[in-house]
Amino acid sequence: MPYQVLARKWRPQLFEEVVGQEHVVRTLRNAISMRRVGHAYLFTGQRGTGKTSTARILAKTLNCKDGPTPSPCNQCDNCQEITRSESLDVLEIDGASNRGIDEVRDLRERVKFTPAKGRYKVYIIDEVHMLTREAFNALLKTLEEPPSHVVFVLATTNPHKLPLTIISRCQRFDFRKISTAEILTRLEQIVEKEGISISKGALGLIVEGAENSMRDAQGTLDQAISYARGKIEEQDVAEIMGIPEKKSLLALTENVARKDPLANIELVNQLLEKGKDPEWLIKRWQKWFRDLMVIKMGGGDLVSLSPREQKEAENQAGRFSLKELLHIMELLGQARRKVSFSSQPQIQLEVLVVQLSSDFELEDLALKDPDLARVYQKIVDLEEKLGVAGPALEKKMEPSSGAAEKKEPKITPLSTPKVGERKEEESKQGKGSPQAQKGEKRQPQREEAPATDQLDEFPQKWELVVREVESRRKYLGSIMLKAKVLKVEGSSATLGLVKPFHRESLKKKENVRLIQEVLDKFVGSNFTLRYVLLEEEKERTPEEVSSSNKLADLVARTTDLFQGEIVEDTTRR
Ligand SMILES: [Zn+2]
Repeated sequence: MPYQVLARKWRPQLFEEVVGQEHVVRTLRNAISMRRVGHAYLFTGQRGTGKTSTARILAKTLNCKDGPTPSPCNQCDNCQEITRSESLDVLEIDGASNRGIDEVRDLRERVKFTPAKGRYKVYIIDEVHMLTREAFNALLKTLEEPPSHVVFVLATTNPHKLPLTIISRCQRFDFRKISTAEILTRLEQIVEKEGISISKGALGLIVEGAENSMRDAQGTLDQAISYARGKIEEQDVAEIMGIPEKKSLLALTENVARKDPLANIELVNQLLEKGKDPEWLIKRWQKWFRDLMVIKMGGGDLVSLSPREQKEAENQAGRFSLKELLHIMELLGQARRKVSFSSQPQIQLEVLVVQLSSDFELEDLALKDPDLARVYQKIVDLEEKLGVAGPALEKKMEPSSGAAEKKEPKITPLSTPKVGERKEEESKQGKGSPQAQKGEKRQPQREEAPATDQLDEFPQKWELVVREVESRRKYLGSIMLKAKVLKVEGSSATLGLVKPFHRESLKKKENVRLIQEVLDKFVGSNFTLRYVLLEEEKERTPEEVSSSNKLADLVARTTDLFQGEIVEDTTRR
């Protein structure tokens, strides 16, 4: 049997196996027992909370040979076919790639056919918020007068992007975030049953990094298995997720104690160049300082560190006053929020390390070193500026925001040639025949996307690609977010990058593989990306920055961010 990814293999097949959604499961089971089956359900909640899995289980409760029953047998043909995604009566449609009016019209036509084997035809439309307005209108018509044998399950991470007219036709279920404890318990079960050897620390780190998504946790575990080839240690997981090692944290902290921000700027840049994730860097550092603080207050038994780490932590705790530690914790907390919103995490980190070493008042500084004071002032200003610019930039990529909604009219519905293709396929197979219906399920974008559409559709598709990559490998996604689409030609796109090390990261083998996989899914197979460095940045690769010139470089970067505002450069006299 070919290798099955864990998320798929361990996908819940019965209501009992759905983790963390008792409120949803209970209501659905009761509705089935009382024969109160709705025709449209709306499942909302963040990714990896079990929306589509629950939708498939709902389909089993309806179509099981024993059904409708709240406890499907999971053994009969109908149940088994649903498990294998082969049921002709359960159709999963990806709203993101079938978002146009033609797809929904097509769907409306198909809805009329009676189920092949089961009692109901269940249409699961995932990421339904991606549909165009025209497609929503068409869907609404079906929802208003659904044939009695049809059940719709609309799933979305962004319910606020749905028209109210759609929402009001649906029974709504909000899937809550799965707690880290629930994810940990589930992973422990999987690890035990699969006979996977993994340390407690490694498992804990996977759960911490999954941010309440069961699917992400299982995905990282998959990666760790192929990465480690043996017992999985914390270090392996850290490598995969771009989490900085303890020794980097020790060095960063040491530099703070010595009040050497330049050494830390250098170190931060090295870590980012190695592909470490800026958010993780702050998160781990925060945790380290938290331990120092607890130790400082005499709570050494409240930290979970190895004996060696404990000793190092005690040593470093002695270098700071409690007041300083509190101050540092506060700065780290602020920086963490900023970094997660910022399009320039590197600069945020640089600002942070300067702040951490600067407990002096600005006035004092001005007296001591006017150059440094000027840089400091600029950084303070810059920080404010970035604080505003960060979320605004984020909005551009996040389709849930108003800004993206305004862009909606620009979206081109999927093109006519494709509809033609589909018609042809249908007439070959005979309308309404099981094969034709099966075809509807296999349709997703793989064989479509003629070259002429690429230019129009690429920006939208690219957004989907970036979002997907980001959800699976956050750091990589944040690099792709910064890439500019320069040109789309045939089946390739040229992207402009500002940092050489971004290109290095994108070219790493494991990253290339992930990007290609996601491109296949959203843009089409054989689609390729070319990366070019944008001119202005080429002149300043990290190697060219001599160590004696670091302060000047800091000024240069700062001025860059002032969008043309002239700053008198006194450091390069
Ligand atoms: Zn069954």
